[in-house]
Amino acid sequence: DGGSRPDYLAGLNPEQTEAVETLEGPVLVLAGAGTGKTRVLTTRIAHILNTGRAFPSQILAVTFTNKAAREMKERIALLVGGAVEGMPWLGTFHSIGVKLLRRHGELVGLRSDFTILDTDDVVRLIKQLIQAEGLDDKRWPAKQFAGMIDTWKNKGLAPADIPEGDARAFANGRGRDLYFAYQARLTTLNACDFGDLLMHPIAIFRKNPDLLKEYHGRFRYILVDEYQDTNTAQYMWLRLLAQRAKGEQQNVCCVGDDDQSIYGWRGAEVDNILRFEKDFPGAKVIKLERNYRSTEHILGAAAHLIAHNEGRLGKTLFTDRSDPDDVRVQVHASWDSEEEARAIGEEIEQLQRGKHLLNDMAILVRASFQMREFEDRFVTLGLNYRVIGGPRFYERLEIRDAMAYFRLVAQAADDLAFERIINTPKRGLGDTTVRALHDYARARDIPMLAAAADIIETDELKPKARKALFDVIQSFRRWQELLENTPHTELAEQILEESGYTDMWKNDKSAEAPGRLENLKELIRSMESFESMRGFLEHVSLVMDAETNENLDAVSIMTLHSAKGLEFDTVFLPGWEEGLFPHQRSLDESGRAGLEEERRLAYVGITRAKHRCHIWFVSNRRIHGLWQSTLPSRFLDELPETHVEVAEMEQSYGGYGRGGYGQSRFDKAEPFANSYSTPGWKRAQANKTDATRDNWGSRSGHAVERIGYGESGPKGRTIEGE
Ligand code: ATP
Ligand code: MG
Repeated sequence: DGGSRPDYLAGLNPEQTEAVETLEGPVLVLAGAGTGKTRVLTTRIAHILNTGRAFPSQILAVTFTNKAAREMKERIALLVGGAVEGMPWLGTFHSIGVKLLRRHGELVGLRSDFTILDTDDVVRLIKQLIQAEGLDDKRWPAKQFAGMIDTWKNKGLAPADIPEGDARAFANGRGRDLYFAYQARLTTLNACDFGDLLMHPIAIFRKNPDLLKEYHGRFRYILVDEYQDTNTAQYMWLRLLAQRAKGEQQNVCCVGDDDQSIYGWRGAEVDNILRFEKDFPGAKVIKLERNYRSTEHILGAAAHLIAHNEGRLGKTLFTDRSDPDDVRVQVHASWDSEEEARAIGEEIEQLQRGKHLLNDMAILVRASFQMREFEDRFVTLGLNYRVIGGPRFYERLEIRDAMAYFRLVAQAADDLAFERIINTPKRGLGDTTVRALHDYARARDIPMLAAAADIIETDELKPKARKALFDVIQSFRRWQELLENTPHTELAEQILEESGYTDMWKNDKSAEAPGRLENLKELIRSMESFESMRGFLEHVSLVMDAETNENLDAVSIMTLHSAKGLEFDTVFLPGWEEGLFPHQRSLDESGRAGLEEERRLAYVGITRAKHRCHIWFVSNRRIHGLWQSTLPSRFLDELPETHVEVAEMEQSYGGYGRGGYGQSRFDKAEPFANSYSTPGWKRAQANKTDATRDNWGSRSGHAVERIGYGESGPKGRTIEGE
């Protein structure tokens, strides 16, 4: 190497260097966890900028979360020595989609100030449509149809494209009509859903080849992280932008790991990896095999576990990071989740005493309901924690109400916001009034707020309702006028005061009311970091990774799904029990494929750890007041003994023996024998295949339903993907 090589290239291994320096033509980096895929992408961008091959605005870079996008920007700035003038096209598929739509939305009938609906809005809207069609919305639940639309959109299917069978499946063959009606209604509302953030740009580019060409000229380099989790629509979008005419360079670089594909349930297609080589002939495929993240024990445990999967492309992984002080992966047992939280809390405090930062520790759960126990415990201990990847804060009732006010002020056509708050607090504008307004608005094809302004000039409403409505409209007019010139946090406070919303909770005697008022204050505080109300609303609708007080030393709590791409010194993996992990629903719905996806999730979990990995299982779990006795996860038996140490098992689990085949190493005995008499979970399974289902399925179907995947279903889309 000549001395003129920039510093940022110096530390890379030969394969990484090749991936960074192969700037012309398609490149696919296929490599295991912690091999530096993300680092390669970041360095590649820095290299492009540093060598003057493109301006920041000419690079399109896709990350899986907004947090990852922010981090990548910071890293690039460091590598090129500061002063990267923005990177406007570095973000998630969704955030880039928003940007494209703000510019070209008119090509699909949207104005640039369109609203992005969240899942609740979508479900409410669909319910209206189902009712308007004269269908029974109990028989044909809106939520189910929202899920179907979501699935179609993940596959890139517009109403006209959906297969006959699919169309027939809902509402006696009216599924397709409903989908058409739904899209039409969105256009009228000047709104779109999450799926549209991909679907609309695809439609725009397909229908406007000249515009597409313009973007081909603009995006000289395209890069995609976590490529294994792209869905069909994302792939279509990507291919439109990346695929050039014959002879033109296709400078597209995707990095991914098939073993970390964990969004199949949300439409991700690992096959996109195979498609890449077909769609981009001559693509250079680069493998990285050296892991820079984890110790040999951690890597060994993860590799052994994932080897149980059949559907793999297969690859080698090794690490140089072995140290005589390295500890094995620790497996712990607890009586129940409360004890589990207590034990993990103790472990954390002990590490803290050993001068380890809380920032370097994470608890990764399979389902989000598991979080509460840790939150409670940490509050008691006074341990700082942050919940990452969840829209939990913004999902709270009072926050959603407040947001509806803000949305309606910023976007007068937002009928769903209007309906949410028109009678909250109670103003005597009940269902009858809302229905009258609704009909009036529909008949004239105008937003409900505008309809309200019109209708008070008539005598359609009773005097009392008319007066109340008049007052509300006056308020909204005032707030709208203030929108441009008043600081948005001030305006927000004013709206909540003047609308009576804050008073509503002040007068509320329930136990939650004080907390809700606190949350409203927190909401205003959280707006401070934005420049405008619109900017803030956009942020929330994209549901960023919540709570990002980066300065606070705190343990991170998140789902395994949202931990993708991250790394921590110490990782805690609680809840390794059959039914919870692997999750029963995954097994029920997708059988072997479901099990393999669960195993990849376990692989993702373990490979987040640099130095310490603690796995936990409990023998009793209480879910919504119901006690369930549980069996240790089969994944525990798939861990290699050489890299695993079973902590404190001798006291709790006399049955822990030398791990022969056919019998679980995690067999239980005293003191659990009293409450739990099945001798070993494997035998239990052989004798009674439904053992776990009994625990998690039929007996408590309701509970299972509520456990969910943490972020599955239509709601889930708002989490770590964005
Ligand atoms: P994942 O599959 O989990 O997303 P990844 O392949 O993207 O992992 P990175 O996060 O890029 O891996 O890298 C893992 C860790 O190894 C990071 O801390 C990174 O800084 C470090 N690393 C990567 N390459 C090198 C290198 N050549 N020298 C030193 N450290 C490296
Ligand atoms: Mg990565």
